Amino acid sequence: MTIQQLESLLNINLPSKEQTILLDDTQITVKRDDSIHSIISGNKWRKVKFQLLDALENNTKHIISFGGGFSNHLHALGYYCRQLNIKLTAIVRGDYSQNLSPMLQDLIAWKSDIRYVNKLTYQARTDSYLNTLQTEFPQALIIPEGGSSHFALQGVGELISELSQEYDYIIAPVASGGTLAGLIQEVSKQSLKTKVLGIGVLKGQGYLEDLVNDLLPKEHASSNWQIMHDFHFGGYAKKNAELIQYCDKFYQQHKIEIEPIYSGKLFYAIELLIQNTYFPKSSRILALHTGGLQGTR
Ligand SMILES: *Cc1c(COP(=O)(O)O)cnc(C)c1O
Repeated sequence: MTIQQLESLLNINLPSKEQTILLDDTQITVKRDDSIHSIISGNKWRKVKFQLLDALENNTKHIISFGGGFSNHLHALGYYCRQLNIKLTAIVRGDYSQNLSPMLQDLIAWKSDIRYVNKLTYQARTDSYLNTLQTEFPQALIIPEGGSSHFALQGVGELISELSQEYDYIIAPVASGGTLAGLIQEVSKQSLKTKVLGIGVLKGQGYLEDLVNDLLPKEHASSNWQIMHDFHFGGYAKKNAELIQYCDKFYQQHKIEIEPIYSGKLFYAIELLIQNTYFPKSSRILALHTGGLQGTR
């Protein structure tokens, strides 16, 4: 199977479109990865596509992965696995069994096998617990939280080649780092002058940079990127009235839906940076809309 065949099988609509909008009288372009599929929107497809293709080629029948109770990654993976007839074991942080989120209800409908684990067990997802799972399921493919692996970098990198022009800035939200690392790697591969800016959506100064650096191969460890840490609103999925209002106002003005966990913080940050004249005049600015609207249902 080719990646194009896989995408048409799953009804994924790529390349996504570029749409210009005015933010505070400044023109920016939005890469609409939120609109690549009717159920599964956003960056999660790009992050797992090559891993899934590889899994299909190796005849993988079982995938295990990790996430919170509203995880866009588990949601997307649950859908793909159902369509592709692969069993998914979803390791969920916290016990939501008596209080299913819409995401978990979808996973159940898609026949995923859900395991609720406490914070301590979940924290060991990259070491001891990973080994326990691999011993229990020797045939299974284990995909890290958020789908952030070297496959993710390749998939995300493709979006740079889809662009109609070169940009001075590409700006994206950052949580597990795979998306930003993919952008940085591709900008470096193509020797573009584009600066890659990340907006940290959780409290993670130092930690987020480490995640990105750990994912980047040495030859693409460029310095033309930066993560901003002033826009997390108190932490992951934390929000306040101002941010919620901002998302509503943004939708009214631009008719593009955003949510407070990722894209709301992204556009809020960009608008504030514009107001603070962070960008030199007539900079070409691209914002990556990574989707994620399912998480706020
Ligand atoms: C997962 C996710 C991100 C963060 O991407 P990372 O590669 O984990 O940094 C951003 N936006 C949305 C909507 C997401 O679901």
